[in-house]
Amino acid sequence: MDYPISSVVQQPRICGREFICAISIKNSVVPVDSVADTPFHIMAKPTGAVCNLGCQYCFFLKKENLYPGSNFRMGDAVLESYIRQVIEACGEQSVTIAWQGGEPTLMGLDFFRKSIEYERKHLKSGVAIQNTIQTNGVLLDEEWLRFFHEHQFLVGLSLDGPRELHDAYRMDKTGRPVFDKVMRAVQVMHQHKVEFNILATVNAANADHSVEVYKFFRDEVGARFIQFIPIVERDNETGFVEGNTVTERSVGPEQYGRFLCAIFDEWIQKDVGRIFVNHFDAALASWAGAPSAICTTASTCGFAMVLEHNGDLYSCDHFVEPKHYLGNIMEQPLIELAASDKQHRFGLDKRDALPRCCRECVVLFACNGECPKNRFCETPDGATGLNYLCAGLKAFFTHIARPMKLMAELLKQRRAPAEVMQMLAVEDARLKAKLAKAGRNDPCPCGSGLKFKRCHG
Ligand code: SF4
Ligand code: SF4
Ligand code: SF4
Repeated sequence: MDYPISSVVQQPRICGREFICAISIKNSVVPVDSVADTPFHIMAKPTGAVCNLGCQYCFFLKKENLYPGSNFRMGDAVLESYIRQVIEACGEQSVTIAWQGGEPTLMGLDFFRKSIEYERKHLKSGVAIQNTIQTNGVLLDEEWLRFFHEHQFLVGLSLDGPRELHDAYRMDKTGRPVFDKVMRAVQVMHQHKVEFNILATVNAANADHSVEVYKFFRDEVGARFIQFIPIVERDNETGFVEGNTVTERSVGPEQYGRFLCAIFDEWIQKDVGRIFVNHFDAALASWAGAPSAICTTASTCGFAMVLEHNGDLYSCDHFVEPKHYLGNIMEQPLIELAASDKQHRFGLDKRDALPRCCRECVVLFACNGECPKNRFCETPDGATGLNYLCAGLKAFFTHIARPMKLMAELLKQRRAPAEVMQMLAVEDARLKAKLAKAGRNDPCPCGSGLKFKRCHG
């Protein structure tokens, strides 16, 4: 079977930005050749930071402080301008209109019906459009799902695992659990054949239950696309990217590595080509020599900006703060803001600010120092800017190296990466047969260099 890399890494899914409610569809990057060769993608927050939940790890709720007295509702003029400007920027290319929060469904269905009207008004004939929405799922009912189905919305649903793990930090404003409501949304999405992705945080509560979480998504939720997002929550009152301590809800660096490795081991045995996990797709792209499919492991970033309810544009969802304000799309064309020097520099800084230990790291090609928002630790030689998750990232990329090399080689031969499962199973069976025959004083067949009795007790 012909299996080009694009079909592996460019399935529609939520991208790898690490905000809890982020959504960006990988194949939706908007080319803006008319201004610069800089592709970009906008995520719009029609309710700003306002949400019907009060998840404990949510740093975004504090962003309300940026707009004192605001009603936090995107008005008609901003709505139409956003849609028109994105469509214009796309030219003849396909368009993505992406909604996220806070909680975008709080705008009500009429807001989204209106957005479809504006799309019809401004879209050139023959140009495809994809609507996406990231939601906590609590308000989704039959009417919403009929609408999503009719307009082929791709839905990103936030879910952290089975009941106890989901409810550990995700709750409504009064502290009540919402798991049942989210699972009801899953059920209705299946009924209405709405395509959805799961966006799961990896936090202190669920990180030691990796395979349980993964199997729950695969076997009980019926998800095919899963994005894992580490919670690295700065312990401060501002909600800005500052300070160098994290809350107790944050995942530990090594714990994060163990989480990814354990899920990878399950996936590589059974699910390649069937279940798509953002980190695994991105890593395969890196091993195959293609650009990373997600911004956190790309060498540079800055292509995914965020639009506030009033038309304010910021460099990235993680950096909605005055320092990273680009301008307002009602006052300056979106395309100019996206191609501005300030935004360009923001994206290049990801690469240019890497500490030496990253630049010399053997897995740099796959890791690229991960997201700048997590780079607040000291390197072993006392420099600043090491990623908090470094130990886990290094362990993960080292752990997956061999299967990734095999899959990259399969891709080069235009074969399906899924063949790796059979290859590894055969190797495993051979090794087990050799182990069964090995004498206690023989060199261990696993290649450890130790005697069998020492290696396997
Ligand atoms: S659903 Fe939770 S994490 Fe997402 S914006 Fe609302 S409170 Fe924050
Ligand atoms: S700072 Fe860069 S890498 Fe991190 S989420 Fe934003 S765009 Fe992605
Ligand atoms: S694994 Fe650590 S040292 Fe290597 S590139 Fe990533 S963050 Fe830097």
